[in-house]
Amino acid sequence: MKNFKEQTFLLEASLHGLAKWLRFMGINTLTLNEKITTEIIQKHPDKFFLITSKTTAQILEKMGINFLLLPRGPLKAQLTFLLLKLELEPSLSLELCSICGEKLIPVKKDLFKERIPPKVWDLCEDFNYCARCDKLYWEGDHVKRMWERFRALIGRIC
Ligand SMILES: [Zn+2]
Repeated sequence: MKNFKEQTFLLEASLHGLAKWLRFMGINTLTLNEKITTEIIQKHPDKFFLITSKTTAQILEKMGINFLLLPRGPLKAQLTFLLLKLELEPSLSLELCSICGEKLIPVKKDLFKERIPPKVWDLCEDFNYCARCDKLYWEGDHVKRMWERFRALIGRIC
């Protein structure tokens, strides 16, 4: 695996679904809201562009900027293509909310006693909280669900 953890990826607007999964993998990811123009590219010469437009690919190529031209959907194909082409290890960092992508905060379970089912209370010690969604995660639940979704997406190469 090459060292892509140091790199920031810049994704075209249509790739926001993919951006979420890159964040779950612990990769620095930004999504552009505007159309990618020469001016935008000049502002980000150090970024690695992920795009689906052949025209943009030609511009990036000419300017000598790192990029990868992805297939136009579905997400499964894009993610698989990306992992293979960049030789990224399919792993999840799971420090982020699976709904909104916000960084989770480790919390003491006593603070959330009334929201935790008794069985979970007895079994789990590690709880994380998303302040944006007001959602509480515990180890088994969150990790298992994320891995199931991740495997379903990249099934064949994992
Ligand atoms: Zn959230």
